[in-house]
Amino acid sequence: MNRHIPYGAEIRRFLERHHYTRIVPRAALIDMDGTLYDSMKNHTAAWHRLISEKGIQCTREEFYLYEGCTGIATINRLFNRAYGHDADPAEAAALYQRKTEYFNELPRVEPMPGALDMVNVFRDAGITRVLVTGSGQGSVISRLSEDYPGIFADDMRITSRNVKHGKPHPEPFIRAMQLARVSPSQSIVVENAPLGVESGDRAGAFTVGVTTGPIPRSALEEAGAAVVFSSMPEFAEALPTLLLSLLTVTNPPS
Ligand code: CA
Repeated sequence: MNRHIPYGAEIRRFLERHHYTRIVPRAALIDMDGTLYDSMKNHTAAWHRLISEKGIQCTREEFYLYEGCTGIATINRLFNRAYGHDADPAEAAALYQRKTEYFNELPRVEPMPGALDMVNVFRDAGITRVLVTGSGQGSVISRLSEDYPGIFADDMRITSRNVKHGKPHPEPFIRAMQLARVSPSQSIVVENAPLGVESGDRAGAFTVGVTTGPIPRSALEEAGAAVVFSSMPEFAEALPTLLLSLLTVTNPPS
């Protein structure tokens, strides 16, 4: 009976909503900023400095909500609000370059506590790991192999360079599924931000939301997270149980 399985109710609700019979996890599609790295404080500070200098009113908090968008999409969103039109492409590229410089001036970002345990659970379970980030921040992406050794193969990475549409569009996760040669019902997405959760759910993946900053869990639930954890260590500890439950729960119950 599904009733007594940990996370059974959440999994069953997900299966019904997506009209799946069951989930067979074969690939984990994992976000970077705010998930693998505790980098959002630096990103919001760099964005706030850049956009304020440009003379556009903004708050630091609002940049947490744009998390997951490509840099150009974020710039266009603010230009539209201030001026009613997109930024000129050359100016947008120059602004994003300056944002990257401001980010790189800030203290080095650290891996998210608990994230190494989390990815190791996926590896030990034989589940393929794919990086899926809207970032083009080379300074962080280049550290992945050092901070997460043996986790993300060079050809298992989707960055802002590989997609036309950033999150919340489902394209980044759909492309990740194609890379890993898995279907949506064989995929687990790990995300910390509403736009990323929305992207993962729209791609049809069982999407786990993890709150790692000021974004409340309700925002991740509303964006379509199948299950939400309050911290990365909590998710890492629960993950073996969740994987077992995913293999057990079917719709209708078997
Ligand atoms: Ca993120």
